[in-house]
Amino acid sequence: MNNYQNLRLKPGKEKSLQRLHPWVFSGALAQDIKKTPEGEFVNITDINGTYLGTGYAQHGSIAVRIVSFKQETIDVAFWINTIQTSLNLRKTLGLINNPDTNCYRLMHGEGDGIPGLIIDFYNGTAVIQCHTSGIYKQIHLITEALQKVLGNSLKAVYNKSSETLHGAVEDASNGLLFGQPESDIVLENGFKFKVDWETGQKTGFFLDQRDNRKLLGQYAQGKTVLNTFAYTGGFSVYALMHGAAQVDSVDVSKNAIQLLNENMALNNPEANNHKGEATDTFSFFKDNDSLYDIVILDPPAFAKSVNARHNALMAYKRLAMEGLKKVNPGGLLFTFSCSQVVDSHTFNQTIFSAAIENGRNIKIVHRLTQAADHPVNIYHPEGEYLKGLVLWVE
Ligand code: SAH
Repeated sequence: MNNYQNLRLKPGKEKSLQRLHPWVFSGALAQDIKKTPEGEFVNITDINGTYLGTGYAQHGSIAVRIVSFKQETIDVAFWINTIQTSLNLRKTLGLINNPDTNCYRLMHGEGDGIPGLIIDFYNGTAVIQCHTSGIYKQIHLITEALQKVLGNSLKAVYNKSSETLHGAVEDASNGLLFGQPESDIVLENGFKFKVDWETGQKTGFFLDQRDNRKLLGQYAQGKTVLNTFAYTGGFSVYALMHGAAQVDSVDVSKNAIQLLNENMALNNPEANNHKGEATDTFSFFKDNDSLYDIVILDPPAFAKSVNARHNALMAYKRLAMEGLKKVNPGGLLFTFSCSQVVDSHTFNQTIFSAAIENGRNIKIVHRLTQAADHPVNIYHPEGEYLKGLVLWVE
C-alpha cells in the first residue's frame, strides 16, 4: 500500500494499463493532470476506483508514466529491488564480471520497467541519464540504491541529465553524485574505448551497437571499410582489429573524430591504415570517388517525433542511395535507424526504395537490432528502436 493521490481514468480507458503498457495519456484521465505537481507519484484507478498502477505525473501528452503495477511506495527499497532485477537480467546475459566486456546498460527506460531512466555502467562508473523531472527527483535514492546493489564494483555515479531534461528542472547540472571514477577506459568484446561521459554524446558511448560491431568484425578481414556517423569509432576499432585493409571514418563532430583516433591508437598504436575525417557524411560522399568493400551508415535519429517522420524517411532513403553507390561489387552495406517513430517495416520499405533506385542485385543478409542489455518490455513494443539491415550488393 502507499498513500499517493488516486487519479481516475475515464470510462473504457483502462485497457492499456490492464495490458501493462506503462503510459497514461492526458486524454484518458478523468481530471486535469496540471492539478498534480510535476513529478509527484500517483495511483491510477479505473472509473470505479479499482487500482491499476503507480506512476509519476508530467504536464504533457503522456500525463503519467507507470513504474509499478503493485500499490507500493517508491522509496529506496523500491529502487534497490528494481535495480537488482535489472542487474540479474545482465547477469543472465553474461555481462557481469565478464573479462572482455566491462560496460553495459543497466537500466533501459520502459525496457526495465522505469520510463525516463537510463543508467549505463562504464567500468565502475554508473552514468545516470534522466529524461523526466519525475525521475530526476529520485536521483539521490537511485544513487543510494546503486551503491547497495553494486557494492564495491561501483566506484562513482555521474549525473548526465542536463541535456535530456530540456530545462524542466532548474538545477540539473551534470556532475558526480558519488565517489571518483577510477578509469574512463572500458573494454567491449576485448577492445578498448575511452568514454567521455562529461562532454560526449548521450551517456558517452553507444552500447546498443555492441553485437552489430562484433558482426562487422566477422566480415572485416582484408576489407576496405567506410564507417560514416562513426562517433568515437565503435565500428572502426572492430574493423581495424579484425584485420581490415583500410578503415576510413567520418563524423561531423571534431571531438568525436579526435576520440576516435585515440581509440584506434589505444588498440593498435602502430596501425597506419586508417584515417578519420571530421566532415558531413553527404559532403564526404560527394567529394570522394573511392568504393569500399563495407560501408556503414549509422546516423543519429532523423525523426524525433511522428510529425518529423516523413522528412526523416526521405533522409534515410537518400543516405542509403548514396551509401549503396560507395559499395564495391560483392560488398556489404550496414545501414541503421535509431528513430523510435520509424518501425522496422517502414525502415525496410525505405531501404527497399533506395535499392530500387540503385538498380543492382541486392540481398538482405542480416536483420539487426539493439543489444540485449537494451531489452524491450513485451507490453511496450515501442521500445524496439534500433533497426539495421546488412545488404549484400552484387
Ligand atoms: N556508430 C556510432 C554511433 C553513431 S551516433 C558508434 O557505434 O558509436 C551518430 C553520430 O552521427 C554522432 O557522432 C554525430 O556526431 C554524427 N553526425 C550527425 N550528423 C552527421 C552528419 N551530417 N555527418 C556526419 N556525422 C554526423
